[in-house]
Amino acid sequence: MGKVFLVGAGPGDPQLLTLKAARALREADLILMDDLASRGCLSHARWNVRVIEVGKRGGCPSTSQAFIEKLMIQAARAGQTVVRLKGGDPFVFGRGGEELERLRSCGIEVEVIPGVTAGIGAPAMLGIPVTHRALSHGVTFVTGHGADIDWAALVRSKTTLVVYMGLRSIEKISSALVAAGMDPATPACIIENGTLQTQKALVTTLDRLSGEGFTGPAVIVIGDVVRMAAAKAAAVEERAA
Ligand code: SAH
Repeated sequence: MGKVFLVGAGPGDPQLLTLKAARALREADLILMDDLASRGCLSHARWNVRVIEVGKRGGCPSTSQAFIEKLMIQAARAGQTVVRLKGGDPFVFGRGGEELERLRSCGIEVEVIPGVTAGIGAPAMLGIPVTHRALSHGVTFVTGHGADIDWAALVRSKTTLVVYMGLRSIEKISSALVAAGMDPATPACIIENGTLQTQKALVTTLDRLSGEGFTGPAVIVIGDVVRMAAAKAAAVEERAA
């Protein structure tokens, strides 16, 4: 019987891969790769490893979840070491939990290797801490297409808000937050391709949030901590204004 590693590749920059993830990649006979996981991570893999790209980008054709799970199960049962490489952290909006349940139910050995999630890593590289004793005592991660989000509770929580997959609903989200009582002048930031060479950031305010010019993947960070964005990120806003 083989084994499956559920591995987080980090937010983009391959140097943000953990040593443990690199070790698992080196051991892998089969790598099932998300399209958000950087190709650069494959430099740790053996030359003859089998790599299957199973991208799941919103709106684009992708391999079905059931098929991905079937591939993992078949390979593990055939005695192979499988790495399921996911962008960021496998358990943050990445279906890692579902895959773990499925593999466990088949009696397959699974090891989870956490990764740096985009909602922490991308703002961090701009100098934005998601928590800060003087600015925000917590952080909430949500997805932009979560239909049943209690915006009023989020506003009351006074935590930094990090929205994944939110570009398409960005205006709806900002009006919902303002309607629920958040100050329209709250600092907000869009970070696209965070930690990568192609990174693009816009620092603005909640009421001026717009996804124009961004194609994703991007996280939206809302809260006072955004004031700490490096001057380089703030300069993007001046150009955009
Ligand atoms: N498991 C991943 C999230 C997968 S959901 C993680 O922990 O990061 C995919 C969403 O993650 C994207 O739509 C985007 O909102 C965010 N994302 C992933 N990589 C990103 C990056 N390099 N920069 C900004 N956002 C990113």
